Amino acid sequence: MEELLAWLVGALITGFVGYCIGSRAGMGGSGFTLGFLLGPCGWVLLYFMMRMNAREASVEATQRAEAARRVPCPMCREPVIRGARLCPHCRSPLDWSAERHRGKIVIPARRRTGPRR
Ligand SMILES: [Zn+2]
Repeated sequence: MEELLAWLVGALITGFVGYCIGSRAGMGGSGFTLGFLLGPCGWVLLYFMMRMNAREASVEATQRAEAARRVPCPMCREPVIRGARLCPHCRSPLDWSAERHRGKIVIPARRRTGPRR
């Protein structure tokens, strides 16, 4: 009986430590569970889970920032990077000097190359 009580107290302590580690990254519940069930091995597992979550959040933030820099091409509606001279999808020339409204781009009028008819 005393052994069971000692195990339970130890599991609660490692669970609490896991909670403290995980709560920094909003994973307090997972941290408690892993610490309670696995002890220090659970802390290590929790550490790697937190690192993976942080990396995924970083990738998502980069993708969101990249998407915010893009506007639809007026010809083909595919996303193009703001400031690009040519649409990489349909090869239409893009004119950014005429941008008056946010997210609006204009295709420049084609210059006449041949003699007028
Ligand atoms: Zn296009």
